[in-house]
Amino acid sequence: MKEFFPTLYGNHALRQQIGEKILQGRFSHAFLIQGAEGTGKQTLARAIAAALSCQALHDENQPLPCGCCPACRRILAANTPDLILVGNDGAATIGIEAVRRIKEDMFLSPTEFDRKVYIIEDADTMTPAAQNALLIMLESPPDNVTILLLCRNASAMLPTVRSRVQILRTELFTPSALSDFVLSRTPSARTMQSEDPDRFYDLIAAAGGSPGIALDLFTTEDGAAVLAARKTVLSLLQALHPKVGVPVLYEAVTALPQKRAELLSALQLFLLAVRDLILLKKDEQVPLCFFGRREAALALCDTFGMRNLLSVGAAILETATQVEQNANLALVFTSLSDALFSARIK
Ligand SMILES: [Zn+2]
Repeated sequence: MKEFFPTLYGNHALRQQIGEKILQGRFSHAFLIQGAEGTGKQTLARAIAAALSCQALHDENQPLPCGCCPACRRILAANTPDLILVGNDGAATIGIEAVRRIKEDMFLSPTEFDRKVYIIEDADTMTPAAQNALLIMLESPPDNVTILLLCRNASAMLPTVRSRVQILRTELFTPSALSDFVLSRTPSARTMQSEDPDRFYDLIAAAGGSPGIALDLFTTEDGAAVLAARKTVLSLLQALHPKVGVPVLYEAVTALPQKRAELLSALQLFLLAVRDLILLKKDEQVPLCFFGRREAALALCDTFGMRNLLSVGAAILETATQVEQNANLALVFTSLSDALFSARIK
């Protein structure tokens, strides 16, 4: 049996579904690939483009895409005029001009291979006018053209566009699948997993199921920043224990970032940790968002009562509202310290 998309991780059912359609020549001319940030939408789109032109399509002994034929090599490297990438180039939206350029280009024959593939990234940032202009092209594109729209949120697209495309969804990875993925891609992760497992599993948790984000965290300085933010949140949780001195609680609060946007992100992370603990009280097997290691979360969970956790959650939400309303930050920190002191285990 032919193997489909062997270089992609996760998304098994989706890969099988797409592979079989391409093999049977039933692949539609327009798709919308929806998925969270870093779930491999772009990688999947390029692999589909390669599979559509792969010269080993009917060779049972070769996977699809084979990755070796000239079409695969050039398309996967985005090094051919037959693969056209359209994006917002850093702007907030994709305007009608971009769609007009595609329209002018799509009726010209492919240059190197049998098919031209347009990949429109961040398609949910297309203006309504651009989406309307796209409609006609989605209805009757030339036979040798495939349009792949990538977006995080398909509901941001016009219903008329959604009804003319087939929607594919990339999935988030489970923590164990994400660990396998990272270990197979970054040699340093293997060392980290054996020498500093807390750090390793914290980064896996911080990636939130996204392989793209995970690779960034393990290979760039973003990882250190994320770990520092998580440490701040853990200090806050530990300072809620009655045996910890009150000054430590105030110190933990003032260690929060002083810039509003960063402070809001930190509060969001704090809320995520409290959410994990609240859910753990009900079910020890619940999937965790903040904690990388379940044992650590369970140990911390045992020290809190449900009432304490709910009060802490309410205090975080109230603080976030104050920050959003531009309240004075010194006052915000004081009121958060007071609220956490009242919510703390007595
Ligand atoms: Zn090939």
